[in-house]
Amino acid sequence: MMLDVLQAPGSRAAPDPRPGISGLDPGALASWFTDRGEPAYRARQASDAIWSGTAGSLDAVLTLPATLRVPLAQAMRFDTVEDTEVLVTDGGGTEKALHRLSDGALVESVLMHYPARARSRERHTLCISSQAGCAVGCPFCATGELGFSRDLETAEILDQVRHAARRLQADGRRLTNIVFMGMGEPLLNLDRVLAAVEALNDPKRFGLGARHITISTSGVVPGIRRLTALGPQFTLAVSLHAARDPLRDVLVPLNRRWPIAEVVAAAREHAAATGRRISYEVTMIGGVNDTDADAVAMAELLRGDLAHVNLIPMNPVAHTPWQASPMPVIDAFAATLRMAGIETTIRHNRGQEIGAACGQLAAERAGEPSAPAVARRRAILVTASAAALRGERSAEPVPAGVGE
Ligand code: SAH
Ligand code: SF4
Repeated sequence: MMLDVLQAPGSRAAPDPRPGISGLDPGALASWFTDRGEPAYRARQASDAIWSGTAGSLDAVLTLPATLRVPLAQAMRFDTVEDTEVLVTDGGGTEKALHRLSDGALVESVLMHYPARARSRERHTLCISSQAGCAVGCPFCATGELGFSRDLETAEILDQVRHAARRLQADGRRLTNIVFMGMGEPLLNLDRVLAAVEALNDPKRFGLGARHITISTSGVVPGIRRLTALGPQFTLAVSLHAARDPLRDVLVPLNRRWPIAEVVAAAREHAAATGRRISYEVTMIGGVNDTDADAVAMAELLRGDLAHVNLIPMNPVAHTPWQASPMPVIDAFAATLRMAGIETTIRHNRGQEIGAACGQLAAERAGEPSAPAVARRRAILVTASAAALRGERSAEPVPAGVGE
């Protein structure tokens, strides 16, 4: 592999100071041209090249004269992410891309292809990252294990989309859905995420309908409220994982700050204000959050809500002591929720369905943490989840990251 040219998140080169062109709002891009005495149509040509063109670099944007391309390239970057690897799995159904940013940080995006079915058209869903690493530190998540590196710039978020769109375009296909379920907590980088969503939505830029965009959060309540105030812009997914606080404290350490009742209340307000149902995500972990008592607690919590629950078998990640729940256990959990009138879907075959695998490649490339650090973390997780199952709230949060 190309390990020698990759840098682990955290080990940094000097970032490129030029802004990414896709992250500029249309007014700023137009001013760049008009300030130089260029006609307004030049900004439109640049915008078309960014959003619908096949060019991978400014040199290939032949609609703009070279006399403009040179100063434009000095002022801004046409692309802020570099594909270092694209791995194809699931018989061609899933493409994972590992992107290197200008300072050496690594992030992933995952493109999933779904063939047409009787009641649905062919879909191409891209799962994108909003941060390099993540500070929330959910112990079953490869990104959480990496710890937080930095927020992505708006252009770095959008350029993941442009890369995938170009790959699809080469085969005459189009992206149909975008989910913020890759690396990072989008609601902790909300200004940039919202600027990216605006560009994705804008008919003059990427032009993807709001219904086709999903933002997933581990439960950042002020962020959910901000989204609610914006109105029905996209689908909100909430990573619930457990309906009891002692257990959710372990699985989503942010729960200590915004416990379940507050998260679900904010999600309900969002559903009421936007008329859009909430997607609740539950990563099913064998013997940890899949018991009958957990299913009953979740059924009671969500009964009567405008909600849809997705149960996803845990994708095994390297350094947890846990495994996915067995399928019969997931079926029983789903049955309990459905009995309470809650729409529930089991994501059977693709762990990547919701970006579950996102972060794994970057984690692998970041290098192996020390064996004692891994052993320590595993031991803490076993004790903490056992205590949570007994209903005890542990005093100490599980530390994020195993590298330190
Ligand atoms: N930080 C946001 C969005 C990125 S994580 C959030 O947590 O919602 C996207 C989804 O992947 C979350 O629902 C998360 O719980 C899930 N996920 C992470 N690691 C997983 C794993 N090993 N197996 C299954 N799902 C996982
Ligand atoms: Fe962060 Fe989401 Fe992973 Fe939790 S599941 S560590 S919030 S990326």
